[in-house]
Amino acid sequence: MLSLLPDFADPLRLCALGKAYEGEIPLADLPRLAPLLASTEGEAAFVLEFDRDAARRATVRVKVEATLALQCQRCLDTMTLPVNGDSTLVVVDGPAEAERLPEDVDPLLVDDEKLVLRSLIEDELILAIPPAPTHSSDACAMRLQQINTARDELTTGDAGSRTHPFASLAGWRGDDDKQD
Ligand SMILES: [Zn+2]
Repeated sequence: MLSLLPDFADPLRLCALGKAYEGEIPLADLPRLAPLLASTEGEAAFVLEFDRDAARRATVRVKVEATLALQCQRCLDTMTLPVNGDSTLVVVDGPAEAERLPEDVDPLLVDDEKLVLRSLIEDELILAIPPAPTHSSDACAMRLQQINTARDELTTGDAGSRTHPFASLAGWRGDDDKQD
């Protein structure tokens, strides 16, 4: 098992050679994944195995392990999503070949000999993110309660002597209007 992942490679050649790579990649180095994350700290551990299956098709097994920091779409706080992916893709050189594959086989479309190898890891992580990630409802409810408690502490007490929090903003807006 090799630990240095090349940037580009011809997957068919790697399959013919039976190459395998194992290592870790910083999440910050995955440019399509990074904007989906609440934090890009941390790394993804991966194994890429290039091989041929029983039908002599070129295959890539992609194993990825990472903990992703996402924004919960219910309470908007940060949540963590453990990812433990393991997919086997069959290398195809066009949509026609992909159509001929059995339904339970995922195609890897390669239209030139320069596949960005780290994109295999990135795709596996992106596919693991649900469309609207949320905490479990219990964890979310607890966070919302904490937020509400904190807000109650801010608004109770000497509320009578306190100026309205938006008063200064309203004044500023008024000035702004006059300038228009
Ligand atoms: Zn939540």
